[in-house]
Amino acid sequence: MSRIAYVNGRYLPHGGAEMHIEDRATQFSDGVYEVIAVLGGRLIDRALHHERLERSLGEMRIAAPMGRAALDAVLDEVVRRNRVAEGIVYLQIGRGRAPRNHAFPVGVRPSVVVTARRARPATAAALTEGVAVITVPDLRWRRRDIKSVSLLANVLAKQAAAEAGAYEAWQVDDRGLVTEGAQSNAWIVDTDGTILTRPESSDILSGITRRRLIGLARGSGLAVAERAFTPDHARRAREAFLTSTSSFVVPVIRIDDHPVANGKPGSTTERLRSLYLDFASRTAA
Ligand code: PMP
Repeated sequence: MSRIAYVNGRYLPHGGAEMHIEDRATQFSDGVYEVIAVLGGRLIDRALHHERLERSLGEMRIAAPMGRAALDAVLDEVVRRNRVAEGIVYLQIGRGRAPRNHAFPVGVRPSVVVTARRARPATAAALTEGVAVITVPDLRWRRRDIKSVSLLANVLAKQAAAEAGAYEAWQVDDRGLVTEGAQSNAWIVDTDGTILTRPESSDILSGITRRRLIGLARGSGLAVAERAFTPDHARRAREAFLTSTSSFVVPVIRIDDHPVANGKPGSTTERLRSLYLDFASRTAA
């Protein structure tokens, strides 16, 4: 089956779908994006993704290219045309195409790209055995709350993880505290059972999975504190895990070659994953 991409108003064969060389997303990373999980052909937490997208666009002063309903129609159409039952849909909105000049161009239309592909949230081995993470210095700019396509430091961090045989890289700020993964949020379950994750600020991306999971955990009586932790604290914790749209909830069992607790996935992580899966399958729309 050939894949289809949406590019600036047209549905094109994926292999030949191209953007203009002077699209500002390519020359300046002047654009934002969203990745939304697809389950049963439906989108998980669509409204929260719209909300975050609109916030990113607002912070970047890029005009929304269309309203929510029109954007939803495109997202659904790309999912449908690619016959994605389980996977992700990717949406990118750039400031637009203009002769190269740093300051904002006047009167350009934002560029819109949507792709979708099949994918599993995480392999069975990642879930039953857990994954390893490495730690790397957080080299990124100071507006990590904006979901911009400027992902160079994240790419370098993830490559370092791949070369170390790890699943993810946890980025560490100048104070020695974990900010987040290259493409996921970082969590631990402390020795007293409290679930910890770094509070929202411009230091991290406000993950949709993170936000949803905090609500689900609290709703089922678990204690969650939005508090930062060090890699050493994480290694001494009862459990560690990561969350993202593309992996849901994945247990972390090693940090830089040190086991977390007994080096096995923990029961709270498993409970949170099943809470999330249950929520997602009930509400995807
Ligand atoms: N942090 C970063 C840097 C990310 O790229 C992602 C994935 N988009 C996340 C956190 C997790 O966010 P979400 O749950 O919305 O996928």
